[in-house]
Amino acid sequence: MKLNQRGLLIVISGPSGVGKGTVRRALFNMTNHNLVYSVSMTTRPPREGEVDGRDYYFVDRESFEQSIKEKRFLEWAEFVGNYYGTPIDKVEEMLNKGKEVVLEIEVEGALQVRERMKDAVFIFLVPPSKKALYDRLVERGTENKELIDKRFQKAEKEFKLAYKYDYIVVNDDVNNAADRIMAIIRAEHARTERTIHNYLKMLEE
Ligand code: 5GP
Repeated sequence: MKLNQRGLLIVISGPSGVGKGTVRRALFNMTNHNLVYSVSMTTRPPREGEVDGRDYYFVDRESFEQSIKEKRFLEWAEFVGNYYGTPIDKVEEMLNKGKEVVLEIEVEGALQVRERMKDAVFIFLVPPSKKALYDRLVERGTENKELIDKRFQKAEKEFKLAYKYDYIVVNDDVNNAADRIMAIIRAEHARTERTIHNYLKMLEE
């Protein structure tokens, strides 16, 4: 008996620099899962090593704004001077194929998804301390001092929105954080409201 048909939408969010990308990669490296990553569109320039179509779809502001007009995003937000958004068509296609679709997005966008996709699962990733977050933004070395400070100020605001999420996961260690997220996904699958419909159908057969 297959209890779940449509896939789960999993939103991983949290302040910039908390390690969402690293934790997501550790999650995807685990075996025995059905996860797919939703590649976002952004107007931010690529960082060294980033690949178009794998890390992001890198576009200019004009095409991004065109996509907003055409309502092609499940959500979008402006973050420290750049646009970021989740193309909706792929997400729907993957969910309909029964895949677990992972979004890795900032808080404002996550709250838009909350409004539109009532059965999505929202996970807020937090650093073990504020200092750890600041140090991580500096160590990452992908932004200059001014941008690091802007991202940190933004993080201070984002911290306050954790209560809007279903789960809070501390990224004290990448593999532990990925393990906790996998445990959440597995538990969410077994939730009665996700399975009861098909279960009752099975009883009638
Ligand atoms: P970064 O420039 O560091 O790659 O991303 C900046 C922030 O934007 C991060 O918090 C990242 O999770 C978030 N982000 C990435 N893609 C999206 C998206 O499609 N929508 C939203 N709302 N945020 C995104």
